[in-house]
Amino acid sequence: MENQLTMRIINDQFRLDYLNKTASQMTQGNGVLAIRGVHPENYANQERGQFLNGIYNKGVGSETSELVNLPDTTEIRLKVDGQLFSIGEQSIKNFECYLDMETGEWVRSIVFCTSDNKTIHYKVKRLISQTENIIVQRIEIQSLSDSVLVEIETGINGQMTNGGVQHILEEDIQLIGEDSLIARYKTSQSQQTLDYQLRFNQIGKFQVKNRQIIAQFKKNVNIEECYVLEKYVSVSSEFGIVESFPKNNDYQTYYSLSQNYWSEFWRKNRVIIESDSVAQFAIDFSLYHLVAMTPKNDARLSVGAKGLTGEGYKGHVFWDTEIFILPFFLYTAPKIARNLLEYRFQRLEGARQKASSRGYQGALFPWESAYSGQEETPEYAALNIRTGKRQKVASGDAEHHIVADIAFAIEDYYQGTNDTTFMGQIGKKLIEETARFWLSRTTSTARGLEILQVIGPDEYTEYIDNNTYTNYMAYYNVSLVLKYQIGDETFQSDCEGFLKELYLPVEDETLLLPQDDSFLSKPSINLDKYKMVQGSQAILYDYSRSEINDMQILKQADLIMLFYLFPSLFSKEVRKRNFYYYEERTIHDSSLSKAVHAIEALRLGNEQIAYQFFLEATQIDLGSNPHSSDDGLHAAALASLWHIVVFGFAGIIREEVLQMNPQLPNQWQSLQFHFTWKGKDMIIKIDHRVLIISSPSVEPIDIVIRGVKYRLTDYLTVELGEYV
Ligand code: BGC
Repeated sequence: MENQLTMRIINDQFRLDYLNKTASQMTQGNGVLAIRGVHPENYANQERGQFLNGIYNKGVGSETSELVNLPDTTEIRLKVDGQLFSIGEQSIKNFECYLDMETGEWVRSIVFCTSDNKTIHYKVKRLISQTENIIVQRIEIQSLSDSVLVEIETGINGQMTNGGVQHILEEDIQLIGEDSLIARYKTSQSQQTLDYQLRFNQIGKFQVKNRQIIAQFKKNVNIEECYVLEKYVSVSSEFGIVESFPKNNDYQTYYSLSQNYWSEFWRKNRVIIESDSVAQFAIDFSLYHLVAMTPKNDARLSVGAKGLTGEGYKGHVFWDTEIFILPFFLYTAPKIARNLLEYRFQRLEGARQKASSRGYQGALFPWESAYSGQEETPEYAALNIRTGKRQKVASGDAEHHIVADIAFAIEDYYQGTNDTTFMGQIGKKLIEETARFWLSRTTSTARGLEILQVIGPDEYTEYIDNNTYTNYMAYYNVSLVLKYQIGDETFQSDCEGFLKELYLPVEDETLLLPQDDSFLSKPSINLDKYKMVQGSQAILYDYSRSEINDMQILKQADLIMLFYLFPSLFSKEVRKRNFYYYEERTIHDSSLSKAVHAIEALRLGNEQIAYQFFLEATQIDLGSNPHSSDDGLHAAALASLWHIVVFGFAGIIREEVLQMNPQLPNQWQSLQFHFTWKGKDMIIKIDHRVLIISSPSVEPIDIVIRGVKYRLTDYLTVELGEYV
């Protein structure tokens, strides 16, 4: 494979400050089960994390459910001649740690000396099966200088908490042989059962103490001899039962399976960027994590804002999924995208309840969703030490655009797949219920129908009237009812009335669009200081939320989001004027902001700014800030890198007829990626002169490239003229 070396996430230095960021970066997962890439030993502040998608629990005193940090199986205590190994205690001669994205394997290899100068090679490897909820580990200890006594303790640690909140109760533990045991745990409130099976490749001595299961192994290791201990753990739950633990499978078996899985994934899906190693690594990293965090075939589950990489955002699902994460799957593995939409369909009842509890009709989906389908947004954010007050989190109450974002994703999915079964069984119902919500959400005034007291994508502007993004999205949502002739005549005529009456903000004589009714009348301040530390929300140390609310300050793309999703809604002149106006006022404190700006800058012909935004977006989880990703990676930001490449530089616009207007950065020689459109698989290759699309299927499709219509059968080459 090209660029082989870049397929490893390498941590070549042990640095306490970076422990949690690298643990997030090196998470392994199969979309359901995941483990953070932690070191086997305990270090102060190191946050272990083992998660099962869908296992949420409400702790005592905590208000909303959180993705449970499960009993851990990664901890290993190694003693050599009685000395407990810990980096910092022994002298380290060689340190290597990486996650190989080509095989899915995490490896840490250390050569160290004991206090009496015995040299030991200590290697730990870990894998997660892509087909079953199984974690396998291999420990290798080789004495390079003398014979030594090796003692290892490892097992299952049921003492894990989410930031101190204990969610797991130990139910049963039983030995089932001299090398294995089973343990049953239950979540305290949601009553989810977790059945662990633990097996080693040799006989161990098991002990149970204070919710910890410890297996002990002892071995005299002669010089040059390599002592190998393998540990296999399966976790059965409602989200996958591992029946009998395959006795004959060893680490190597799982390694080969994992390698096959990942090499097939990369063969089909790798985005290949020639001559830009930063971009290549960033996009590999993104795709690896999208796969590790997204369930492959379970529509009961979705993807949290941090995937399964940490406890951040309590594992909750936001609009990040429909608008940012889903498109990657829609255009590479559409069945997964369908499941993500079905996850919402299965929670329609919760959305109906939320709507009716507030006096609305239809479905008001929760701003933060977990398993139950109820609103899970915490009521209060952290204490603001400047004001001494706990700040209410208003999003759960007023960030209603999520309703239309879901409808947008349904249409996006349908356009990309022509999946009429989905549309008939699921899509239309969701469009109907979401549209009913908007019909009931308006207030009739002299201006027509207005949508009052909402929060748009920009969360630094709360409870405003007629957020332009929200109003246009609501319009689009309701227009889908008429497009697909959903519901009876009365409903359709109500929808027609809504579309006629809904107030849609337009540009003023200087081409400026208002973000909402009051935004443009507020004062602006110089944001340079905060833009220097984007993503840190540093402004909250200087101003209270209500003070920020009263100024022209954006956390993230808002109108620019609308331009991104609907590129032909406004003229280029209008988009240009607003892009520069609003960007100046945007801190980019949300990781969702940069990519959208990159794409819009590109569409406006500003390739340099676009590339700069792209580079900055690659640094959200890969940059030098040691704590940017401690509690997990930014799933939507990872996915958004794929958006920049495919919808930005390759210039794909998903309208009824696929359009492409490629514009590669000067730094790239060529770009190649896989794209599935209406059941047709394509390999698209672009350089600065030519665009080549090859497709194995015979069904022809129309495609518009740089404004000219072509018919693609199995192969198409187009000389690229001017960017239009
Ligand atoms: C952003 C939201 C986003 C959420 C989860 C917030 O900081 O403002 O737009 O949905 O993070 O990623």
